[in-house]
Amino acid sequence: MEKLSIVVPCFNEQETIPLFYPAVQKVLAKMPKVTPEYWFVDDGSNDNTLIELKKLHEQDKHVHYISFSRNFGKESAIYAGLSAATGDYIVLMDVDLQDPPELLPKMYKILQTGEYDAVGCRRVDRKGEGKFKSFLSNQFYKVINRISKVEIVSGVRDYRMMTRQMVNAVLSMKEYSRFSKGIFAWVGFKTKYLEYHNVERVAGETDWTTHKLFKYALGGIADFSQAPLNLAVWIGTTSFILSIIGLLVVIVRKLIVPGSSILGWASTISIILLIGGLQLLCIGIIGRYIGKIYLQVKERPIYIVKEKK
Ligand code: UDP
Ligand code: MG
Repeated sequence: MEKLSIVVPCFNEQETIPLFYPAVQKVLAKMPKVTPEYWFVDDGSNDNTLIELKKLHEQDKHVHYISFSRNFGKESAIYAGLSAATGDYIVLMDVDLQDPPELLPKMYKILQTGEYDAVGCRRVDRKGEGKFKSFLSNQFYKVINRISKVEIVSGVRDYRMMTRQMVNAVLSMKEYSRFSKGIFAWVGFKTKYLEYHNVERVAGETDWTTHKLFKYALGGIADFSQAPLNLAVWIGTTSFILSIIGLLVVIVRKLIVPGSSILGWASTISIILLIGGLQLLCIGIIGRYIGKIYLQVKERPIYIVKEKK
């Protein structure tokens, strides 16, 4: 018998948990060779999520839960769940059934051949999602793939099954600011992507506003790329070259046409404003990275457990 750990981050999911568990159980019934192990992570929910999880725990000894002392975010919940999982294979799933459990047997079968170390799922459309949100997401994948060494496949969700070896590699990355899409790509290994059509949430509401996603995307870029820093260097170099040219023009003009250096109030103001703006932009970019370093060196825990069973 092989053990399959199912890691499920939950934040205010009292409506979806009672739907999720039977749906997964139904699929697992078709996989007689695996023993399941559920790790639900209650990410500081303020509804009855924990009560629902306790109910499941009473009912099925394969169900475990970790409850955080407050909301630490999905990335922390993923890390906690992966750390607790003891399975030979580990699958990461959202509780809202947007990750179709029907794909589990197929994912398992692919990993068992030993040819792949992970099976990820990729949605081929974004049905039911706002146009603006989809547009931003698509732009994000374009940008990050252009400026970062890790390759992040567009539309890949966190829904993926991994071997123990790969999960150990993921856990060995102790960074505080966790961007899983980047981490999964960074550790390498061979990943196969299954495609499926987008499914909408069964119940409850998503907590990810466009603003929150945008911030998450910017954070991910800073975590996995130094391109913004190179941009600062590029801006600096270009303005340095331009200023040397400007300086030569001013000196030569002064020598050739006496008295002409009084002219140029407008150009002076423009230059001051432009250079000032560019300087602030570059300081801002550097500041983002310093913020990341600051959080990392403090070595705060990624999550705090209040209860675990
Ligand atoms: N989630 C979490 N912590 C959070 C926000 C979300 O653990 O702070 C969980 C949530 O319960 C769900 C998964 O992450 O299982 C995906 O969240 P959601 O469905 O809201 O996001 P979307 O599917 O829209 O990306
Ligand atoms: Mg969802």
